[in-house]
Amino acid sequence: MYCPTTAWTGEYILGMDSRKQFDVVVLGSGAGGLSAALAAAQGGAQVAIFEKADLLGGSTAISGGVPWFPCNHHQDELGIDDSPEQALAYLSSLSLGRMDPQMAQAFVDGSRQTCKWLEDSTSIRFSVMPGYPDYHPEHPGGMPAGGRSLDPNLFSYRELGVWADKIAKSRRSAHLKITDTTLGGGTGYLAPEVLAQREAEDLRGCGAALVGPLLKALLDAEVSIFTGAAATDLILTDGRVTGVQVTIEGTSTTVVANKAVILATGGFEWNTTLVSSFLRGPMDSPAGVPTNEGDGLLMAMRAGAQLANMGQAWWVPTVTIPGDVAFGQQRANLVNRERTLPGSIFVNRKGKRFTNEAANYNALGGAFHQMDPVGFDYPNLPCWLIFDQQYATSYGSFGTKAGEPIADWIARADTLSHLAQLIGVDPEGLGDTVTRWNATVAAGHDEDFGRGDSAYDRWSGDGDFRFTKQSTLGPITTGPFYAVEIHSGTLGTSGGPRTDTSGRVLNTYGDVIPGLFAVGNVAAAPTAMAYGGAGGTLGPILVFGRAAGMAASQGTA
Ligand SMILES: Cc1cc2nc3c(=O)[nH]c(=O)nc-3n(C[C@H](O)[C@H](O)[C@H](O)COP(=O)(O)OP(=O)(O)OC[C@H]3O[C@@H](n4cnc5c(N)ncnc54)[C@H](O)[C@@H]3O)c2cc1C
Repeated sequence: MYCPTTAWTGEYILGMDSRKQFDVVVLGSGAGGLSAALAAAQGGAQVAIFEKADLLGGSTAISGGVPWFPCNHHQDELGIDDSPEQALAYLSSLSLGRMDPQMAQAFVDGSRQTCKWLEDSTSIRFSVMPGYPDYHPEHPGGMPAGGRSLDPNLFSYRELGVWADKIAKSRRSAHLKITDTTLGGGTGYLAPEVLAQREAEDLRGCGAALVGPLLKALLDAEVSIFTGAAATDLILTDGRVTGVQVTIEGTSTTVVANKAVILATGGFEWNTTLVSSFLRGPMDSPAGVPTNEGDGLLMAMRAGAQLANMGQAWWVPTVTIPGDVAFGQQRANLVNRERTLPGSIFVNRKGKRFTNEAANYNALGGAFHQMDPVGFDYPNLPCWLIFDQQYATSYGSFGTKAGEPIADWIARADTLSHLAQLIGVDPEGLGDTVTRWNATVAAGHDEDFGRGDSAYDRWSGDGDFRFTKQSTLGPITTGPFYAVEIHSGTLGTSGGPRTDTSGRVLNTYGDVIPGLFAVGNVAAAPTAMAYGGAGGTLGPILVFGRAAGMAASQGTA
């Protein structure tokens, strides 16, 4: 199909020799690729984006779309104090010494400018998520009342014409802003008249409200965009990256990059070989787009890149619902609210609690990856979310609204002992755990795991009790009882080629590989394992995407 304005199909590009050469070639069309391409085009480069999937936007398009930008100008408007020193102290407190201080400094220094640049260069408009705490708000430099996590305002996809249908769409949140979702403090549902208006104007929020405006700006800047175009290998000439092999409709073609190739191909979460080779613990439930198979990582390795942060990912607990498919694969649904609501706990095979269930999703990866040195296994996997009828009636669960019958695929029994037998958990252990949990709730303090102690724990639970422990502490008393298996999932992996502060890929000796950049989840995360708050992946990705695009347009590497 020929797409008007600036895009060509494989057939067109293969027939047009003159169109096989660009200054900057960007691989992948998520936040990393789109921001890098825009900055490169603004720097005067002739830019092309090659996207492997048929739809643009990658995991970014189906994400919450929230970037974490310390010291952003919207904080000033609301009188929220922040400083680079505070932000750095906070990130350092979460990095366990693994973060490269220069990369962290570059992120914090670039954060404010990047936020402003996005608003100046595109129709993206952000708002502070009111009251939304950082993920470890009590750490030094953390912000219990929020300010760094931003919600992109709704964007009308009518502005994109035929391109509106070329962007990956989230079935669940297409017309929601993050602040409409339960995670962002809303109900998760729109009033019928509001939904009707948003549908009529094709107003989309969350990740779609990042990708749509970025794509519009790129089309206006006459960047060439190709979908169904998978990069397979880099071309090196005398140690410099000078182009890339791209396969379109089964045919491989050479695309020349006069100045640079920018890898922005996302993580390797869908490549089971790479996952088992590198990740520090089990991960069987990737939540992003299935085209993120580590292609860019493999290309960088073949070019001699130094790797970093390879054991890490942006972890998240997930649930799989039978028959629920996205992009041709079993969908991994994020479990963020259900585990935080009062009247629910996580238990392991022994029927024991093992963590603060209301902690942020990324930190919970650590609880899943605990090893038992004697049994030599992962005692907390698999694990189950346990809740009772009171919970089900008050909150619903996994797609059912409050008061609606709980779905058939969820394990259900009249007694805890029977429930434990159904799911293969120690019945005595489960009984004791629930007794202890109910005593914990009555005492108003979780001595075992501190659930409810942090401002973050008190945010995501029952909104009627927000900011109090009651928002997350509630007893499990009323049968029938329910159990849902929880998986160790990821939003995307976060290890890959090590880069400098402009996104240039370094080789195993620490020298720049000329002509090669990497941004986003394909690269080693600039904050390493530190996930500061909502937007902790997209914030750095956008900062370094812009930096890489600017540097690549100058051909300085
Ligand atoms: C449900 C969900 C919600 C999330 N919410 C948030 C949030 O609110 N805030 C936040 O900070 N993070 C969030 N995340 C994580 C965030 O979406 C990702 O970290 C981020 O989008 C990664 O951006 P990227 O540009 O690196 O990769 P992606 O957006 O995944 O883009 C990579 C692209 O590269 C393409 N590609 C792969 N291989 C090739 C190849 N060989 N040739 C050409 N193209 C290729 C892929 O098809 C894909 O389109 C969320 C993730 C999920 C799944």
